[in-house]
Amino acid sequence: MKLDVSSILITESQIQERIRELGAQISKDYEAGNLMLLCVLKGAIVFFADLIRCISIPLRCEFIQLASYNDGTEPSQIRAIQGLSGNLNHADVLIIEDIVDTGHTLNFLVDYVKRLKPESVKVCSLLDKPSRRQVSVTIDYVGFEIPNAFVVGYGLDYAQQYRNLPYIAILNPV
Ligand code: 5GP
Repeated sequence: MKLDVSSILITESQIQERIRELGAQISKDYEAGNLMLLCVLKGAIVFFADLIRCISIPLRCEFIQLASYNDGTEPSQIRAIQGLSGNLNHADVLIIEDIVDTGHTLNFLVDYVKRLKPESVKVCSLLDKPSRRQVSVTIDYVGFEIPNAFVVGYGLDYAQQYRNLPYIAILNPV
């Protein structure tokens, strides 16, 4: 599969403008809190790196990596392959995701974090594909709602490629 330039869905400047808005909103909402941003590896890394620089209040950064495996049942099972090392006592955790599709990953993640007893848990996702949802999840901050298409770029991959694109593109077989 190859990318052609006409498949750009969200441009670099649209992304950067939206991230400045999200950063300002998060800074305001968590002014009196104890903000801890949790980056979901690997897809959210680019979004995470830009977003933290648009947040003007003190914050901590943590990272988690998930893997899904299919044991023949649907949907596939999800587990943390790199879990949280820090103490979540008193932390207002904001999960930073690249995209919410069926919702299974986020559902797992919110439960995982809640079990560590933080002060609060909320979610910020750059992209949301609501038409694909299978489980109901709450996304407190959404960058962009997108249609049902497979997208790459700005951290999102296809076979570990395309993460370095500064924009979001639809991956079309050509
Ligand atoms: P969910 O559990 O919500 O179905 O899926 C979440 C994960 O699936 C995302 O974190 C991402 O890794 C992957 N994913 C879902 N849709 C897309 C997409 O359009 N493009 C890419 N690159 N990954 C996707």
